[in-house]
Amino acid sequence: MARPSILPAPGADDPPFYRETAGECELFERAFRNRMPLLIKGPTGCGKTRFVAHMAARLGRPLYTVACHDDLTAADLTGRYLLKGGDTVWADGPLTRAVRDGAICYLDEVVEARKDVTVVLHPVTDDRRTLPLERTGEILHAPPEFMLVVSYNPGYQNVLKSLKPSTRQRFLALEFSFPQPEVEAAIVARESGLAQERCAALVRLANALRELKGKDLDEGASTRLVIYCASLIKAGMRPADAVVAALIEPLTDDPDVRQGLLRVADIAL
Ligand code: ADP
Repeated sequence: MARPSILPAPGADDPPFYRETAGECELFERAFRNRMPLLIKGPTGCGKTRFVAHMAARLGRPLYTVACHDDLTAADLTGRYLLKGGDTVWADGPLTRAVRDGAICYLDEVVEARKDVTVVLHPVTDDRRTLPLERTGEILHAPPEFMLVVSYNPGYQNVLKSLKPSTRQRFLALEFSFPQPEVEAAIVARESGLAQERCAALVRLANALRELKGKDLDEGASTRLVIYCASLIKAGMRPADAVVAALIEPLTDDPDVRQGLLRVADIAL
């Protein structure tokens, strides 16, 4: 069974810090108020999860997040009968719980999930807004506060793992990319505590590495990795070591590409 994480964590900012870049907060709120599901496309580590956590807190709804993987089935989302002390009891999955609670359900990397997941997503994403639970015979009607949000990374270019038009055309869609350099530097400074001008240099390096996407690299450096790098430097690590650990090694296993990235880092910093 997929275990959802419920964000924000205790003690976290409420709502968690999120720097808006292009009117996405208003679009999310309109989707929520108009009972429309939302699809967020974008590279890994560019702020999709943080955005959803921020909006859920702003709208005062609980958030059930599921990191989808290639073994995730429809039953993992809806629920299943479990044996408990000799009895068989029904346990709601995160999607069912979100529908019952009027919560926001966020399926991260939805294209990774098994194909049978689309069968449960279809009735809940059109005007029926129902979730049929085959096993229990129930048909749940989603309350107005329920919202489904899914994300995926189109950059992986996997034809087998893209969403079918019949599924994607049920969602409003929003494209995320990395923020403008000065905005990204401000985010990195806020998250790591490192001075903004030093973060700006790391963002310049990240952007130089992002240029290599589709050539030497499948993915460029994410904002998440830039924050890791800045946090290590802030904690006293030598900048050159932090760059290797956070911005070079996570991107490649190929020794030649690694050498190339180190040269890019030398020039950019
Ligand atoms: P994704 O879900 O796209 O893989 P995350 O939402 O986990 O990425 O983003 C990674 C990290 O980057 C977050 O934990 C947050 O620290 C930071 N981040 C990225 N974009 C923003 C933003 N616009 N505002 C605030 N933090 C951001």
